Amino acid sequence: MHYTPAPRDPKAAPIRINLLSDTQTRPTPAMREAIARAEVGDEQIGDDPTVNLLCERVADLLGKEAAVFMPSGTMCNVAATLAHCRPGDELLAHATAHIIAREGGAHAALGGFQVTQLQGDDGQFTPETFRAALHPRSRYQPPQTLVSVEQTANIGGGTIWKKKALDEVAAIAKANGMITHMDGARLLNACVATKISARDMTAGWDSAWIDFSKGLGAPIGGAIAGSRAFIDDVWRWKQRLGGSMRQAGIAAAACVYALDHHVDRLADDHANARALARGLSQIDGIEVQEPETNLVFFKPDGAGVPGDKMVEALRKRGVLLAMMDGRIRACTYLDISAAMIEETVGHVREIVRSA
Ligand SMILES: *Cc1c(COP(=O)(O)O)cnc(C)c1O
Repeated sequence: MHYTPAPRDPKAAPIRINLLSDTQTRPTPAMREAIARAEVGDEQIGDDPTVNLLCERVADLLGKEAAVFMPSGTMCNVAATLAHCRPGDELLAHATAHIIAREGGAHAALGGFQVTQLQGDDGQFTPETFRAALHPRSRYQPPQTLVSVEQTANIGGGTIWKKKALDEVAAIAKANGMITHMDGARLLNACVATKISARDMTAGWDSAWIDFSKGLGAPIGGAIAGSRAFIDDVWRWKQRLGGSMRQAGIAAAACVYALDHHVDRLADDHANARALARGLSQIDGIEVQEPETNLVFFKPDGAGVPGDKMVEALRKRGVLLAMMDGRIRACTYLDISAAMIEETVGHVREIVRSA
């Protein structure tokens, strides 16, 4: 059976507050203008000036030799892992990682490599856990080729990997001849929250990418960076996967616009997330994970309302969010205002009161 997300029910209450995901952003009028003005060419033959500009910007931002524009973050992960690993190789990542849990098994289906799921709190594993999972190179065991981290860790609660832990994991990997990959879907959220530059955050990581279709507010796209040789390999996989595009400058223009205008403002999303968590935690019985960035995970069961019932009741009031791995996840992003956060807390309070 193939699970298909339910289409919007036309009879349901209109959605007024959409906290489902930071993928729900709509391009702003100014972004749409940038899209309309975009200079374009044939991306597949390297001839789109706006895509080329974006790739230079991302390579520079992440301190790498080169970058390539991709239709999605998922394709960044898939192409990167396929470029880094051969069949039979082992990839190590946290058990909740997107790369393991949410990409349709691409690593197994397309790459023929196996994964080791590392455990740890908040979607992160410690350097000690990583070290303990390593084995000596021998003919018996799979080559441990790649370690991947998620900055921020999505299912972990949008938590930020500390720079020190990143450096330690990278150093252990290098000492063992391994390749390092960073899924940076929300890397810039971590950078804005910590005031650590993206270049510093990804130092020690052979490949890293950022998503433009999440908090940065562009309609589509991600870009992955690394050495020139790695980017050549990624390009081949992009071609094989059907991800090479034509006048992709239309999309890249939105991404360039986002880098210029939507990075510093991620701090507003973080403030809204903190306000939401504060409001929810003041309601008796609601368990809230303290947010570090723009994701708020909470459990209302202790207040007498199971998570799925809460989601349903909020939906009737025009507030959209969803369960994720047993908790409710709310995301803040540029279309979510402080007033919407206050209103959401009010709805949750009323739903709990009437339960
Ligand atoms: C969303 C996400 C992805 C995939 O990005 P898409 O652009 O949706 O394909 C990968 N990793 C993490 C951590 C994500 O949150």
